[in-house]
Amino acid sequence: AKEEGKGRYVVYDKSMHTAFNERMNIEKHLRSAMNNNEFELYYQPQVDIQSGFISGFEALIRWNSSELGFVSPLSFIKIAEDSRLIVYIGEWVLREACHVMKGIHDRVGSRYKISVNISVIQMLQDDFTDVVLDSLAVSGLMPNCLELEITESIFMESFDSIVSKLEFLKSRGIRIALDDFGTGYSSLSYLQQLPISTLKMDKTFIDSLADKAYSQSFVQTIVQLGHNMGLEVVAEGVEDVSQLAFLKEAGCDKIQGYLISRPVPVSQLEPFLKPEKRY
Ligand code: C2E
Ligand code: CA
Ligand code: CA
Ligand code: CA
Repeated sequence: AKEEGKGRYVVYDKSMHTAFNERMNIEKHLRSAMNNNEFELYYQPQVDIQSGFISGFEALIRWNSSELGFVSPLSFIKIAEDSRLIVYIGEWVLREACHVMKGIHDRVGSRYKISVNISVIQMLQDDFTDVVLDSLAVSGLMPNCLELEITESIFMESFDSIVSKLEFLKSRGIRIALDDFGTGYSSLSYLQQLPISTLKMDKTFIDSLADKAYSQSFVQTIVQLGHNMGLEVVAEGVEDVSQLAFLKEAGCDKIQGYLISRPVPVSQLEPFLKPEKRY
């Protein structure tokens, strides 16, 4: 309590000052990043566990800032959300991902899906569903080849309004995945109300498969829960063959992770577009 009273008058220490400046600096450069064409999408394959074939890709943003160099999305997405810049950045991501995937379909056939991360700030926009439908219309991509990845943070926002937007998009054939599942605030009753098609089990469960006894039963339980609800279950962050073997045995539908590939730029996608088994 003594410490508390004292701390109240400390407005900032040096490290806070530095962190604040860094945020301001990132935000400032984020504002010009779009016009300077500093964003790029990388693509990470998802593999169907039973068949061994690639079923789709997740689009992941990369920012090569002329001033700051490469900045991880883990450092700038939150800042982009707080400053609302994510609305513009996210729209670009959606349009670019649909466009690139349509180009792939035209060349090699339409067997791949594209998954796009969507911030809750984007979903709260009045024109969110229009932007999604327009991205499909402009690119010519089929709606059932687009999957939107949302996180459990939507439970803290205008849940009803977001659910009705997602229901509308689902009725148009677009798929919805619940990302990072198991780490946030989902309760089972909320889960039932969400019009999702896919559960993405968080990487932390996969990481601990080898050394935490309860992780194996967590993973089995999540797979069963998903399947009982009629959902597809995807494991993210799969890095080794023992994790793959366990997930296959547990009946998980798809995997994504460094075991198959790191995310790659469009220029390096070609080898992944061949219809070959990946393990
Ligand atoms: P996420 O959606 O959970 O994406 C998975 C992250 O795990 C990616 O990090 C990916 O590169 C990384 N990853 C994939 N497989 C493995 C693996 O086997 N091992 C390890 N250690 N990591 C793996 P990344 O690309 O740095 O993205 C971080 C987060 O930033 C994403 O987490 C997502 O929340 C956010 N993000 C990325 N792109 C976008 C975007 O376009 N829009 C929005 N709103 N968020 C994005
Ligand atoms: Ca994701
Ligand atoms: Ca994820
Ligand atoms: Ca994650």
